[in-house]
Amino acid sequence: MGENKKNVITVLLYHSVSNGNLKIDIPPNLFEEQVKFISDNFKIVSYDDLIKSVVNSENIKENIAVFTFDDGYLDFYTDAFPILKKFSIPSKVFLITSAIETGRLSFGKVSNRKFLTYKEIEELSKEQICSFGAHTHTHINLRVTPVKRVVKELKVSYEILKNLLKTTQIDFSYPWGIVYHKNIVRSLYRSAVGGRDGILDGRRKIDLYAIPRIPLKRESFQKFKKRISGKYVYESYFREVKLLFNDLKKHVH
Ligand SMILES: [Zn+2]
Repeated sequence: MGENKKNVITVLLYHSVSNGNLKIDIPPNLFEEQVKFISDNFKIVSYDDLIKSVVNSENIKENIAVFTFDDGYLDFYTDAFPILKKFSIPSKVFLITSAIETGRLSFGKVSNRKFLTYKEIEELSKEQICSFGAHTHTHINLRVTPVKRVVKELKVSYEILKNLLKTTQIDFSYPWGIVYHKNIVRSLYRSAVGGRDGILDGRRKIDLYAIPRIPLKRESFQKFKKRISGKYVYESYFREVKLLFNDLKKHVH
């Protein structure tokens, strides 16, 4: 890495591998270049192995990277996974359970994006290098949703994944990274990603219910290299303020 750090844990956050026009849409050729760079410069471990190391308080002595995807778009199956497989890279996909097959989100909204179907999720979960987690049932904002609904959302997505994946050890991703109702999350899930962007120090104690990530975007390779070394983590402060402002606006009207 150029520097002498040896205990860096970088949990990467991807959304879509596609030619869409949002910043979260990373074209397949660019994604492949990023994957190659990351696999040349980090030891890549699965999300599950990271959690096991943290739970067992193992010392992390290398620079590691972990691949995660939020929302569960269809292009994970069609575009991202074939590239990950080529490099034997494990990844975890956090699913919006109500959007599986249907694209259905909260407040009756239907996304115009295509989501994974049950058939693809089952096929992918047979692969050694692919696992799934929950991202609520309908992608709610945990900070502004009444607690009864929060409990329901978290339980429904937990139950769906428990039945689908035949395990009780399920991990969670907070929508928009908004860490809220941590105790409810803790009562159901094994771990959770969210909060401000960041890179973990393997020598320090890690909060299993607010694991920071580095969000990847469609941008130049130069910026990408800086981003994965943590240069732009301050951007999440602006995102946080924007989200808070939006929440307040919703309450006023
Ligand atoms: Zn999301």
